[in-house]
Amino acid sequence: MQHFSSPVRFRSSNKDATFSEKELPSRSIEDPEDTRFPYAMRDLPTVSQPGDQHHKPDHQAPVHREAEGTGTAANGLPRTPGTPALPRAVLCNPTGSPTAPQRPSRLGPNTDLKPLALRRPLIPQDSMDCPVIPASRPHSPWGRFDSYESTEDPDREYVGFATLPNQVHRKTMKKGFTFTLLVAGESGLGKSTLINSLFLTDLYKDRKVPNAQERIDQTVNTIKHTISIEEKGIKVRLTVIDTPGFGDAVNNTESWNPIEDYIDQQFEQYFRDESGLNRSNIQDNRVHCCLYFISPFGHGLRPLDVACMKALHHKVNIVPVVAKADCLTQAEVHRKKLKIREEIDQFGINIYQFPECDSDEDDDFKIQDQILKDSAPFAVIGSNVQVERNGRKFRGRVYPWGAVEVENSDHSDFLLLRNMLVRTHMQDLKDVTGETHYENYRAQCIQNMTHMVVQQKKCSLREKHREQSEADCPLSLAPADPQNSERIIFEKDEELRRMQEVLERVQEHMRHSQRGGF
Ligand code: GDP
Repeated sequence: MQHFSSPVRFRSSNKDATFSEKELPSRSIEDPEDTRFPYAMRDLPTVSQPGDQHHKPDHQAPVHREAEGTGTAANGLPRTPGTPALPRAVLCNPTGSPTAPQRPSRLGPNTDLKPLALRRPLIPQDSMDCPVIPASRPHSPWGRFDSYESTEDPDREYVGFATLPNQVHRKTMKKGFTFTLLVAGESGLGKSTLINSLFLTDLYKDRKVPNAQERIDQTVNTIKHTISIEEKGIKVRLTVIDTPGFGDAVNNTESWNPIEDYIDQQFEQYFRDESGLNRSNIQDNRVHCCLYFISPFGHGLRPLDVACMKALHHKVNIVPVVAKADCLTQAEVHRKKLKIREEIDQFGINIYQFPECDSDEDDDFKIQDQILKDSAPFAVIGSNVQVERNGRKFRGRVYPWGAVEVENSDHSDFLLLRNMLVRTHMQDLKDVTGETHYENYRAQCIQNMTHMVVQQKKCSLREKHREQSEADCPLSLAPADPQNSERIIFEKDEELRRMQEVLERVQEHMRHSQRGGF
């Protein structure tokens, strides 16, 4: 059931930008139906209520805000943020050999639910809205979210592997999600406005925009804003890294260095944490995506855009966007996109590549995927203002000749960008960060460390060899003590002289004895 009147809950952990409880009238999240359940939504399977299917929401769902988290996905996973939590069944061991200790129930100490034998249905059959299950098959603890709970092929025996995704889903839900987004582009291109529009928040309310004089001396900074967003029981810790000062100086040479350093620092921190003792609670602050803002007023990319993207493209997923698209006509947007794509190819810039669509995906999905790929770089519009027209409220910008709607696909690619970032490709962006960019960094680190260890080993071997040689041949490698050396040389000379005398005496003696012999 979908309601669009309840607020999103924002909690800010950012010291700079303070966010207590924030309510945005335009956003809908919590389902009041959830409060029927004595436990958290995520802990229980949804229960069909009589008449649920006839119930219509009070509000018409806004465009593209289809019901999130209801129904069952094609793979059998519930789309609701919940999967059933179960009291752990006590496994009896007839031999008396040790068994794994029983973990405390997730439902808390006061629950009335008692652990049940595995073969009994844990949730009443009628409340789970299940089809009639073959009598020979044990009921699954996952209820109707178990793809085995069907009447198909009743005689087939199953182990139950198909419920593995349910377990992963449940664990991930408990852990929550993190996502870090970096925004880069010259000041005034609408970065803050777009971020606020994307995440329906007000991340920059304490921002002080420096004047021209202040900007002359300003260097590029990185400022971190973190907010926790909870939607339908799913928690996301969103971090936005802002880069004020980028592209504002008279000379912008190397102005991307602070951004590059920031990305490297996060990799380094992750690498250290990963090599540390407590690896299970690592906080992932790696930058998963960089939204790079391109000015709508130039002819394609500026040299700064090329240099910056080339400096960053091996470290982060770059998603280029054309800012303030409402300043351009449709034809201009089209031409600009072509030009930018051409230049991206020409300069060998590796922007984020959308993954190939699987051949077994349905046609609708394939079409959407193609539209997404053809739309890059996304031409976007942002607004912090709610406009009311003809009884309809929307985020938009009002001009003397009309209003542009931020979430209208005919007006901009805003929705495509948001869907890509949040609904379809967030996990892929994280995967590419971990598996490609971080792996590159890690491989480089390990290579450098190995090189250092080899050098140290070589040094210590050389040292050892020197000590050994000194022991074998003390004269040649004796410490350079001038007095001592002179004494030794004198003694050796004396010895040589004595030996020479002895040799001469022996030779003289031999000559005499030879003469006497003749
Ligand atoms: P930032 O410095 O890049 O963060 O830019 P801001 O978000 O502060 O926006 C700078 C100015 O551009 C403000 O006056 C905004 O109202 C305006 N602005 C933001 N987004 C858009 C847009 O999509 N179109 C137009 N025409 N103006 C915009």
